[in-house]
Amino acid sequence: MIVIMNINASQASIDRVQLEIEKLSYTSHLVEGKTRTVIGVLGTKPLRGKQHLQTLPEVSDVLEISTPYKLASREWQPIDTIVGIGSARIGGNHVTVIAGPCSIESYEQTKIVAEAVKAAGGHLLRGGAFKPRTSPYSFQGLGVEGLKIIQQVGKEVGLPTVVEVTDTEVLTITAEHTDMLQIGTRNMQNFTLLKEAARTNLPILLKRGMSATVKETILAAEYILNEGNNQVVLCERGIRTFVDHTRNTLDVSAIPAFQRLSHLPVIVDPSHAAGKRHKVIPLSLAGVAAGAQGVMVEVHPNPEVALSDGPQQLLPEDFKDLVDRIRMVAKAVGKDLA
Ligand code: PEP
Ligand code: MN
Repeated sequence: MIVIMNINASQASIDRVQLEIEKLSYTSHLVEGKTRTVIGVLGTKPLRGKQHLQTLPEVSDVLEISTPYKLASREWQPIDTIVGIGSARIGGNHVTVIAGPCSIESYEQTKIVAEAVKAAGGHLLRGGAFKPRTSPYSFQGLGVEGLKIIQQVGKEVGLPTVVEVTDTEVLTITAEHTDMLQIGTRNMQNFTLLKEAARTNLPILLKRGMSATVKETILAAEYILNEGNNQVVLCERGIRTFVDHTRNTLDVSAIPAFQRLSHLPVIVDPSHAAGKRHKVIPLSLAGVAAGAQGVMVEVHPNPEVALSDGPQQLLPEDFKDLVDRIRMVAKAVGKDLA
């Protein structure tokens, strides 16, 4: 339920509404606009007190929120959230580019990619240290050594970093070495991980589960927001469908769907959707054309010898081409490169 105050409502009336909400054993949450304040009524109990709140001074309206999520909804916060990660921003009318290798394999490999990302105009460096692999026999990542490498390279090159956290066991160490945490498709509904990651207060890149609906994805984000961390970016990375020409299907229609329902920024990861390099650039451009506020792609100096996801990783020179084309598409849809 949300209480919408009159334009320029007095502080006394706002305080009174908050007090009455607490008397009803709910928690209140203020969203202050330029002229109007909206007060959210939070709690797990069935809603009561709607009519009572409606009668209080300077209350314009009391709305029941029809969606099962609140904090992540557009009804709750009409304006776009902008997520800050060090010097980078994701959200609003800008397109942010995140790139880096699938896995951190060595200092040299990471440094070559990071320099190429920076030179081409990318904004954040990504890379996995603990890899969630489908097979237990595949490369599992360098672990803590990988974390140290990406942190060092990010600082040397001047790019904030994004690293996936795969488990609560490695949460603290991962959080100490990165500017943004990624929660991957396989963990989107690992609610313990979502809550604990939220409590680090780092910004979180939340990937859509490969079989999750848009609503389930926003509910997963709600777990993070409900811990008091509103720095969440949603990422469409492809879903499982019946087709066999691609690894996953990049669900471009999810971009405007998320943006209509939620104020959180939405980016696309065409690398994990496509699984093959030749589809990465067209899908990136499709994502930006459909309104994505960012693109995340994998880049490797020598994909043939990559320890994970070689077939989908772009070469540094292809990445430069991608950024140039993203800039043009962004402009065509009224946005700019962040
Ligand atoms: C990744 O970004 O490295 C990754 C494993 O992605 P996803 O969770 O989308 O498979
Ligand atoms: Mn990968």
